[in-house]
Amino acid sequence: METVTENPLLSRAFRIPFKDIRADHVEPGVQAILARAQEKIDALAQDPEPRSYENTVRVLDEITQEVSESLGPIHHLLSVAETPELREAFNAVLPDITQFWSRLPLHEGLWSQVKTFAGTPEAKELDGLQARHLEKTLKEFRRAGADLPPKEKERLEEIRVQLARLQRKFSENVLDATAAYALHLTDPSRLEGLPDGPLSRFRERAREEGKEGWILTLDYPSYEPVMKYARDRSLREELHRAYVGRCRGDAFDNVPLLPRILALRQELAEILGHRHFPDYRLEEAMAKSGDRAMAFEEDLVDRTRPYWERDLQELRDYAETLGIPEIEPWDVAFVAESLRKERFEIDDEILRPFFPLSQVLDGLFLLTERLFGLTVTEVQNDQTWHPDVRSYELRDESGIWLGSFYTDWLPRKEKRQGAWMNDLLTGGPGEDGDFRPHLGFVAGNFSPPEEDRPSLLTHREVQTVFHEFGHLLHHLTSRVPIPGRGGLNVAWDWVELPSQIMENWSWEEEALALFAGHFETGEPLPSELLQRMTAARRFLGGWNQMRQLSLGTLDLALHGELAMELQEAPPDSAGETVLDFAVERLLPFSPTRTFAEHHILTTFSHLFSGGYAAGYYSYLWSEVLDADAFTRFKEEGVSNPETGRAYLGAILSRGDSADPEVLFREFMGRDPDPEALLNRNLGPSPERRRGG
Ligand SMILES: [Zn+2]
Repeated sequence: METVTENPLLSRAFRIPFKDIRADHVEPGVQAILARAQEKIDALAQDPEPRSYENTVRVLDEITQEVSESLGPIHHLLSVAETPELREAFNAVLPDITQFWSRLPLHEGLWSQVKTFAGTPEAKELDGLQARHLEKTLKEFRRAGADLPPKEKERLEEIRVQLARLQRKFSENVLDATAAYALHLTDPSRLEGLPDGPLSRFRERAREEGKEGWILTLDYPSYEPVMKYARDRSLREELHRAYVGRCRGDAFDNVPLLPRILALRQELAEILGHRHFPDYRLEEAMAKSGDRAMAFEEDLVDRTRPYWERDLQELRDYAETLGIPEIEPWDVAFVAESLRKERFEIDDEILRPFFPLSQVLDGLFLLTERLFGLTVTEVQNDQTWHPDVRSYELRDESGIWLGSFYTDWLPRKEKRQGAWMNDLLTGGPGEDGDFRPHLGFVAGNFSPPEEDRPSLLTHREVQTVFHEFGHLLHHLTSRVPIPGRGGLNVAWDWVELPSQIMENWSWEEEALALFAGHFETGEPLPSELLQRMTAARRFLGGWNQMRQLSLGTLDLALHGELAMELQEAPPDSAGETVLDFAVERLLPFSPTRTFAEHHILTTFSHLFSGGYAAGYYSYLWSEVLDADAFTRFKEEGVSNPETGRAYLGAILSRGDSADPEVLFREFMGRDPDPEALLNRNLGPSPERRRGG
């Protein structure tokens, strides 16, 4: 029999023994972690000693950090090395984990100790960072409902359970409706224009079902190429109607769920003392309130509209040359793709040979050294979860070991899709003058090496590597002594600044020289190719930005204006009210009424089952910040080490040690200006309308 101390989940070693973690460690490990934490929380709640920062805030921080960092390796393995056994073991303990976190801020004894400390003279005299941390900690308890009378706490709990259930149902419906659709074609002329890749996937799908011809589905990798390349307009229309028609009055109807979810969020916000959900949701974000987020959207809508009109005209003109008299929603991607090809003669495959993965990484590390004085060294590590995994150390100019990280770039069956970054351990400067190193992780799913060639990236994938590495640096360079205020623990409309800003370098000739070179000949990226790439970057920028703005505006209006008018338990028929409201709100962003009617509300998982409710605006919000901050590099030199150090000192290493506005001002000397985003994404103004 194994004793609990041999469970690798309890090891707390910096070099996490991933390779030893098995599914049967999960249940006993998690129970031990939670029980130990609960014991400490109860002890803190009953501790009769007078309250101090050390015996209250610090102790609570240590307890919660230990739980989240001990559970980290399980979450991590579920994303990179999932087995049915691991998934099952995790699902068995998931309710306990969820309950632990949701009960923590409602623990009366604990909350009373924290409040008692907040009232002491010591608390009033805390230094800046500790005072900020105490204030944020109190806020977290209150936002969870710690101050409410028992009846309202109970109602809050009910709302959270109901919301979780409805949101899960919403996303199940989207998955099921998508899976339920298949369009079987046998006439090859209907598929004219489609590239070989999708065609062979459609044929394969038909073969799997024992059929001749092709089967088209509504999964995005199947739907997108049809909308972009199929010359058969009626095919595009048929598929588009099916796509936007999902979960709208069919067997997987999400329409009645919309008003219920909105009404419950409204009720939750009201119980917690807010006018509506956006105000509750954005209280701790940079935007601070629903009105401010909406004002941000409206300002950008005004500035973007002339570009949008220009792009729309261009699409209409080109559509006519293709024999399309009036452009409809199912024509846009097709017309845009045809025009892009004609104008820029550029696609992924032309660029790919210039971006071998290992060369891109070497260049990125070199850039990191030049800009920030940080060195990356690969190290041996035999404790990882797969032989593809690499381990590195990051040091600063004085040789301080800031942290370590893993990379895992190639696809595997048991690994999740996409690219992402994880913070595994959060360190920082200690009181003894030592620096406790951070630990992080980045992953992608890039095409693996083949016999005659290494792993080669598209330029979009190069940007992804830079993006995730930006998140990683934000975590690894944190010098904030309180882990809960360090690294990525920042306002959520600020967290994408350090990642998105890194993407800018992947477009700069100076930086490209460090990593772009043909994998066979070593030839650098021809400048003529770079020019076409750069020109294509802004193609239909106004059109695309307006689409983001339409969704951000609709999100805020639904959760604010509309939700406030809904009854507390809305009848099914209120679903139609929500749909009508959406159409009206989308009209100003739509060339024709059909565009507004073909909205994606019933499958919009970001809003109704993901974390972007009242937060869709944040995509553009952080783009404004990164485009603007990068202008300082453009002015002072994109490899200027002084600018790099200034950015590291003012933003990258500072986590949430001060308000993001303050950090931004420290680096830029002023508040953010959206003009930089317009310049980068949209180019020179067609007829720029400035306010007044
Ligand atoms: Zn990101």
